[in-house]
Amino acid sequence: MSIIAAHDVALSFGATPALRGAGLAVEPGEIVAIMGPSGSGKSTLLHCLAGILVPDRGEIHFDGRRIDTLGEAERSALRRDRFGFVFQFGQLVPELTAEENVALPLLLGGVRRAEAVRSAREWFPRLGLDRLEGRRSGELSGGQAQRVALARGLVGRPRVLFADEPTGALDSLTGEQVMDLMVDAARAEGTTVVLVTHEPRVAAYADREVVVRDGKAYPLTAEAAVS
Ligand code: ADP
Repeated sequence: MSIIAAHDVALSFGATPALRGAGLAVEPGEIVAIMGPSGSGKSTLLHCLAGILVPDRGEIHFDGRRIDTLGEAERSALRRDRFGFVFQFGQLVPELTAEENVALPLLLGGVRRAEAVRSAREWFPRLGLDRLEGRRSGELSGGQAQRVALARGLVGRPRVLFADEPTGALDSLTGEQVMDLMVDAARAEGTTVVLVTHEPRVAAYADREVVVRDGKAYPLTAEAAVS
């Protein structure tokens, strides 16, 4: 059974159709890359899967349960407790230290501060961030900041990690380091990953690639890869 799935999902922003009947089913522990040209609907599909956006039509299922019909508060709790997120620009809170940023999802989930900080600190050596715990985001390189964002995405041991262009703001070597760490951590934790990228070399880290075109999702074929 899939852990997260979209069935025939359609969503328009005003008169602009972003998704027109997209379907995707992801197996537990699978790493799936959503590819496709800019504006094709990749981020919208990711946001629907993650319960951030509610589709106009179709269904989203997580862990055997339909989630698009839940209210905002329930979807918000689901995102906090079961999902992790990494965005293109790490979006760290600049006033907080790196370890406070990583601890934030746990604190928001009601974990006591000492325990949240202890859990956050475990991720620093794992992601090559030793001795950076006390830095603020302005004192980190782009790659370091994105590894802190990755730690924040993983600290709650999410069932699904959603990553939207996680290497989009990084040079290729730094992007590869982030992808290596993300994939290794996901495999070690058994975390399912849904990754949006327009870069084939980033998608190559995934077990499987799907292509979104004109608001629909297709399996990657040789034809789709070259066109
Ligand atoms: P991708 O991630 O593939 O670049 P998106 O899912 O971001 O594509 O966007 C799909 C379409 O929906 C595009 O035409 C985009 O302009 C439009 N769109 C996305 N988000 C919004 C929004 N918040 N308001 C209006 N239009 C949007």
